[in-house]
Amino acid sequence: MKNSLRKAVFLFKTKILNPKLERLNQRTQKVLKNTDLANFNFSRRQALVKHALNNSTFYQEKYKNLELTAGIKTNDDFLKLPLLTRDELRDNFEAIKAIKVTKLNGEKVSTSGSTGNPVALIHDKRHPETPIRWRILRWWGVQPWENQAFIYRYKRSFWQRLGNRLLWWPTKRIFLAAANPTKEQLQTFVLDFNRIQPTLVQGYVDVVFEFALYLLDNNIKIHPPKMVWVTSAPLFEEQRELMQKAFGAPVCDQYGNTEIMLIAAECKRQQGLHIMQDTVHIEFVDQNNLPVPPNTNGRILLTDLTNYAFPIIRYDIGDEGGYLSEPCSCGNPLPLMKNVRGRQAHNIQTPSGLRIKGDHLMVMFSGFMKHFKEIQLRQEQDFTVYLDYVPRKENLAAREAQEMAAMLMSRSRAEIKVVCKEVKKIKQVGTKTPLIINNLKNQ
Ligand SMILES: [Zn+2]
Repeated sequence: MKNSLRKAVFLFKTKILNPKLERLNQRTQKVLKNTDLANFNFSRRQALVKHALNNSTFYQEKYKNLELTAGIKTNDDFLKLPLLTRDELRDNFEAIKAIKVTKLNGEKVSTSGSTGNPVALIHDKRHPETPIRWRILRWWGVQPWENQAFIYRYKRSFWQRLGNRLLWWPTKRIFLAAANPTKEQLQTFVLDFNRIQPTLVQGYVDVVFEFALYLLDNNIKIHPPKMVWVTSAPLFEEQRELMQKAFGAPVCDQYGNTEIMLIAAECKRQQGLHIMQDTVHIEFVDQNNLPVPPNTNGRILLTDLTNYAFPIIRYDIGDEGGYLSEPCSCGNPLPLMKNVRGRQAHNIQTPSGLRIKGDHLMVMFSGFMKHFKEIQLRQEQDFTVYLDYVPRKENLAAREAQEMAAMLMSRSRAEIKVVCKEVKKIKQVGTKTPLIINNLKNQ
């Protein structure tokens, strides 16, 4: 079917059948023109805090000694708000939830944290992430009515597939559930791919990477999309290079999580991740919870400016990152942040208390990743670290894994033992396969 018809049907469907989405979409585009974004962001924070004080018993209790009857007046007031910890978020679902939230305006979701303690929260259906998703696609020249391919880990039921087909008709969307796909499934997917020629490939980093390796190892050429959009886990630079080679298209890195799905994403220039300043407030802070200067790393605090069903204010998510001082050469007014490389919450620890951070390990191991489909570090109670790996080219993989183990041991000042183990599949937590699983008691 011709692109112009797909476009016409798509525009008709959003305008007539989903006018609210269309309004949000228009607003999302307009806000980047002639708006003082910093001011806009602050007034949304003010409104959110006010809403939380009026509608969430958790925040009423948490902020009760701050004398906030009139809300926050300045940014300094905002910086005085105590942080929301992961434990608080996990233990206070009912209290954080705004009163008057129903199934109509909120959808309950759970994180699949690699610590094994999932966190439940509510996404506000009145503010879907779709307009921000379309914003990112526009940066890459992808139109929402163009054909798209998705690579995820879970399988979709027949009814889900049918529903999705009807919803998006005549735009075609193909799906690969990449947890151990059979050769036939992979071949069918490649055939479908080249038939519908999607402009976007989207999926979890590790499974998109696995599909890219399948293409490279079997010398299969596919019709290049306009972009490959990977989510859900930090991206190794080497994985990015191999994916770009396999798909013949740039790979867009983004930052988001179950709590707040689209926080920042790269544009075509790839000079950093543009922060969605109109919908999210992000802070980078030091040990005293004070802002760090640009180009330095700090702990990330998140405030979701659009979630009125389940207010998230100054949430200490356990990631690290930093602002970039230079604006992007694309002219987009949204400020830039560095790529987020791993969570500081997931470290390797030594008996003497030395912590080796996940993001440092990612830097240490980049250069080795092309020999593996996947790796995972699992630290057990006796401090031993198991380096589980799924090899790509077997002979090399075993040798490289040994070398990585030696690097990690020397980095730990020989305090811990590292054992390499070739596995068929690495351990999955929820829908993710985290780089580090730590089973030490005092993580
Ligand atoms: Zn840019």
